[in-house]
Amino acid sequence: MKLSHQTIELKPVHPFVIARGGYAHHRNVIVRLTDTDGLEGFGEAAPNKYYAESVETVVAALAQFKPVIERADPLSLESIETDLNRVIRGNASAKSAVSSALHDLLGKRLGLPVHRIWGLDPSTAPQSSFTIAIAENHELEARVEEARDYPILKIKLGTDRDMEIVRIVRSAAPAKRLRVDANAAWTAKHAVRMSDFLSDQGVEMLEQPVAANDIEGLRFVRERSRLPVFADESCLVATDVAKLAGAVDGINIKLAKCGSLREALRMVHAARALDLQVMAGCMIESSLGISAIAQIAPLLDTADFDGAALLSNDPYRGTTIVGGTIRLSDAPGLGASPIATERPAAAFQSA
Ligand SMILES: [Mg+2]
Repeated sequence: MKLSHQTIELKPVHPFVIARGGYAHHRNVIVRLTDTDGLEGFGEAAPNKYYAESVETVVAALAQFKPVIERADPLSLESIETDLNRVIRGNASAKSAVSSALHDLLGKRLGLPVHRIWGLDPSTAPQSSFTIAIAENHELEARVEEARDYPILKIKLGTDRDMEIVRIVRSAAPAKRLRVDANAAWTAKHAVRMSDFLSDQGVEMLEQPVAANDIEGLRFVRERSRLPVFADESCLVATDVAKLAGAVDGINIKLAKCGSLREALRMVHAARALDLQVMAGCMIESSLGISAIAQIAPLLDTADFDGAALLSNDPYRGTTIVGGTIRLSDAPGLGASPIATERPAAAFQSA
């Protein structure tokens, strides 16, 4: 197999702002694996500064993966993953792009979507939420209006006006299901106070109220909150799941945190064994990245797959979340393909 990559620039319709800040542009890396018979698999890395990754670290990691990939058996997905983990620790988004491309290649070789190879029924996928990122109060109503087609909104909090934000969104969307994500911005005591208010506002779920390493804080909130509490920043890989049992009601899986589709599956099963609910989410990424994580959608209780729906320039088509309904493509592999544009995309470079 040959490994090549290209960098893409993604523009959200609005700057994607959360408790720790935000950006108007996001740069991701597309990985292409070309098998000896010319078959191609694609995957996307959505590196995030919070998890110590960038386009530069992804490209550097890919260069280190190259010798492993070039001599690998493309069907030996587990061995390749073990080998990549030996080459370099962390770098989850870079690894997840390779994993996604390998699964894409496998599905194309077999002529089946990855979720069908796994025996999953796409009609059992839950609905996806759509995110209302942090914005000025006077902008929020318009944001809710733009999200009119989505029945579930996820509100980003962690500001000094969180209650105002929730009240504005609730009054603009009186009948919608609402979820809240504080992105680790609150103290445990503040989160408990907020949970009473949020529950009164009909919010149904609270994601990552406290700092990532504050497992006891999560437990404190869960024991006193009227809302189910989900861990996102606290739960990166499968070995984190056991540590969270009893401290949260559920976990949020992302490829950019866990590093592969296979680790995502292991997290689902670890969570189920510990009676935890399972959610999966995404970063700002194109429909290629969404199509990868969406392969596990039929196994989820909760999904947040709006990364591409938030974009003004999605360069891929694949899984969509029209009206909140996750529609997995039935094309082989991940089911994603590039959208032809007038300007040809930057060429793929050898890693
Ligand atoms: Mg989150």
